[in-house]
Amino acid sequence: MHPGPVSDGSFDFDVLVIGAGYGGFDAAKHGCEHGLKVAIVESRDMGGTCVNRGCVPSKALLAASGRVRELADRQHLAQFGIHAGPVRFERQKIADHANQLVATIRANLTKTLERAGATILRGEGRLAGPQQVVVRESGSGLERTYRAKEVIIATGSEPFVPPGIETDGRTVFTSDEAVNLEWLPRWLAIIGSGYIGLEFADVYTALGCEVTVIEALDRVLPTFDPDIAKIAARHLLDGRDIDARAGVLAQTITPGCPVTIELVEMKTREPVETLEVDAVLVATGRVPSSSSLNLGAVGVETNRGFIPVNDRMQVLVGDEPVPHLWAVGDVTGKMMLAHTAAAQGAVAIDNILGHGRQIDYRSIPAATFTHPEISSVGLSEADAKELAARDGFELGVVRSYFKANSKALAELESDGLMKLLFNKGTGEVLGAHIYGLHAADLIQEIGNAVARRQSVRQLVNEVHTHPTLSEVVEVAYKQAALALAS
Ligand SMILES: Cc1cc2nc3c(=O)[nH]c(=O)nc-3n(C[C@H](O)[C@H](O)[C@H](O)COP(=O)(O)OP(=O)(O)OC[C@H]3O[C@@H](n4cnc5c(N)ncnc54)[C@H](O)[C@@H]3O)c2cc1C
Repeated sequence: MHPGPVSDGSFDFDVLVIGAGYGGFDAAKHGCEHGLKVAIVESRDMGGTCVNRGCVPSKALLAASGRVRELADRQHLAQFGIHAGPVRFERQKIADHANQLVATIRANLTKTLERAGATILRGEGRLAGPQQVVVRESGSGLERTYRAKEVIIATGSEPFVPPGIETDGRTVFTSDEAVNLEWLPRWLAIIGSGYIGLEFADVYTALGCEVTVIEALDRVLPTFDPDIAKIAARHLLDGRDIDARAGVLAQTITPGCPVTIELVEMKTREPVETLEVDAVLVATGRVPSSSSLNLGAVGVETNRGFIPVNDRMQVLVGDEPVPHLWAVGDVTGKMMLAHTAAAQGAVAIDNILGHGRQIDYRSIPAATFTHPEISSVGLSEADAKELAARDGFELGVVRSYFKANSKALAELESDGLMKLLFNKGTGEVLGAHIYGLHAADLIQEIGNAVARRQSVRQLVNEVHTHPTLSEVVEVAYKQAALALAS
């Protein structure tokens, strides 16, 4: 196919977005709302990973399994003087709840785009050259070339399955299948202790499965703040009789009945043990979906598949932006979360509209929806220390405990910790890390403070409702204000 030259006025669309996940959706909607003529191409399911195979179904499963856990925790209930009978649950109904929620949210999202005026093109998109995208239509396989003033790549990511691990989708599977909750294995091994592995460990243990967690890195929960990881592992893994092993690599995994896992020591590659389990969930991270985009047509080189972008979401070759080409979401590899993708989508459109704007990753929170939750925003303690050394300020670190919070005590859920990082000179909040009840909601307040680069000097005067968990944050701000250099 030889697409013709692009001349002014010959564009089919102002903006063509490839991929209708959260990143593409937000870009398309925001573009339409600002008067742009927008098309969005989707090869699979509208809503992408988050709606169909990620945030939405996993949170539905966590909501149901969390209730099972609560009702089955006789000791906890007895402390309130409550005595419940044995808990019964229907796996299929829990799975149906997740599937129905997915269908509802997918339909709402599609309607929203249609109402906004976006043209939805069903098929696989790839670049044909500057400002040109070929779409191979789903079903017919026909190819059409579209010309767009601006092209936004929002093709997202897929589960990463390391070499040596064979998946069959039934006994060895990734989160793509786990969200369907098709069966409950008696013994499940989860490979990886990042947020996806942890959330599924929460679901499966609540529903009565025995879980083993295998982590190749030196410590479990390696992506979390070390202090938060310690307390979270104590409750979420040890407290649930999860056998969690760190520094151990699942070198080969063979599906079947049973599934066999050959474990070797990560450092020496010496054999450790062969496990025979009923099922394995591979939760070893995600890889970008960019291989079929024909990025060579515009001279873009990826970084292991991730598309390099600047903070305006312009695609880069070297340090130079490629004219009229943008990328947002997981495919950029920056904080691979749905709300990051959406925020990037809006930033790309704002820049297209000529309102120069940069994304601020530091103020974007992240949460793990275990029971209780884990959350964070801003810098890690290690990065904050580095920044302090570089910029010549003293780093302040204070801890606030849920044990001292009336609401947490009333709920009999007082295991929890918040760590606040701040500049001891200016008081600027640099980051926070929380483990405890509703940590995912609590982090937002600190995210907002980070976004405004606020100082604890100002924040300390903000009144928090009593009795609420938000007072954990208030206490941290007060301690930090006291620790400031006067
Ligand atoms: C189990 C799980 C739980 C998660 N939970 C959370 C959570 O609680 N909170 C959170 O913030 N994030 C969560 N995430 C992460 C979140 O799902 C992703 O960060 C988010 O979906 C990224 O959005 P995106 O738009 O970049 O890409 P995606 O959602 O991956 O969407 C990309 C879309 O592009 C389409 N596409 C790809 N290539 C082409 C092509 N060539 N042509 C046309 N279409 C194409 C794909 O089919 C897909 O629909 C979770 C992820 C998983 C797996």
